[in-house]
Amino acid sequence: NTFAEIDLGAALNENIRRCKYVKPTPVQRYAIPISLDGRDLMACAQTGSGKTAAFCFPIISGIMRGPPVQKSRGARTVFPLALILSPTRELSVQIHEEARKFAYQTGVRVVVAYGGAPINQQNPATVYVAWDIDSAMKWKMYTTMVEREMWDGFRTVIVEGLERMGKRLEQVMANMQALVFGWCFAMTSELMGPLLAFIGIRYLALDEADRMLDMGFEPQIRRIVEQMDMPPRGLRQTMLFSATFPKEIQRLASDFLANYIFLAV
Ligand code: AMP
Repeated sequence: NTFAEIDLGAALNENIRRCKYVKPTPVQRYAIPISLDGRDLMACAQTGSGKTAAFCFPIISGIMRGPPVQKSRGARTVFPLALILSPTRELSVQIHEEARKFAYQTGVRVVVAYGGAPINQQNPATVYVAWDIDSAMKWKMYTTMVEREMWDGFRTVIVEGLERMGKRLEQVMANMQALVFGWCFAMTSELMGPLLAFIGIRYLALDEADRMLDMGFEPQIRRIVEQMDMPPRGLRQTMLFSATFPKEIQRLASDFLANYIFLAV
C-alpha cells in the first residue's frame, strides 16, 4: 500500500519518492494497477484527488518500459507516444509541471503545447500535454514555431499571416519552375518546423472531460480522437477523467474507450 511496493520502474519510483508521495490516494490505488494492466479507464475523480499522478504514472512507466522508439534523425514529423488533453491552458501547464517531475531521468520527455508556445522537441519519446488543438492545429503549430528566436529576422512577416502565406506559396509553387519550387518547399518546411502526427499514440488521457464539454470543446476533442490518424480505441490505451458522469460523458466514454473499467472514488 505504498508506492515503493508498486513497480513502476526504478527511475519513476525514485521520482515519486523525491516528490514525497508515500501512499497512493484512493483514485491512484485503483487507477494505476488497472492502467498498468493495459485496460482502458473511466474515472470519476475530483480536483485534488491525485488524478494527475493517476494517469501520469502508468503513461510514463509504460513508455519507459515499452518497446524502444525508433529515432528518426532529422525527420520533420514528431510522433508523440502519449497525448494528454485538458480543458484549459492553466491546467495543461499544471499537468506539465507535475509530469516533468515524474519523468525526470526516465528518458521520457514531456512537452506542453498551446497557442503561442513553442513546439520544438523532436525527441520521439514525448508526451504532449495539449490544449487548444483544433482544426486549425497545423497553422497554430506553424505560427508557434516561427515565434522562436531563431526566426527573429522573419518574425513580423511570418507570424502575421502564415495562413495567407501558405496560400500565396501554393500559388507561387504552382507557377514556378522546378528549381524555385524546390527552394520554396524547403523554405516552407523549415518555417513550419516539426509537424505533429498522432499515429504513434499509445496512451491518450483526457483530464476534466466534463469541463471540456461544458466549454463546448466536444467537436475539437472528437476531431482529435476520431479524425487525426490516432490509433483506434483498443489499439491505444485511453483514460478518461471527469468529476461528473452525465449522459454526454457516458457517450464519450463509450465512443473513446474499449472494454473499459469504470471507477468512482
Ligand atoms: P491533483 O488531484 O492531481 O490535482 O493533485 C492534488 C495534489 O495532491 C497535488 O498537489 C499533488 O502533488 C498531490 N498528490 C497527488 N498524489 C499524492 C500522493 N499520493 N501523496 C501526496 N500528495 C499527492
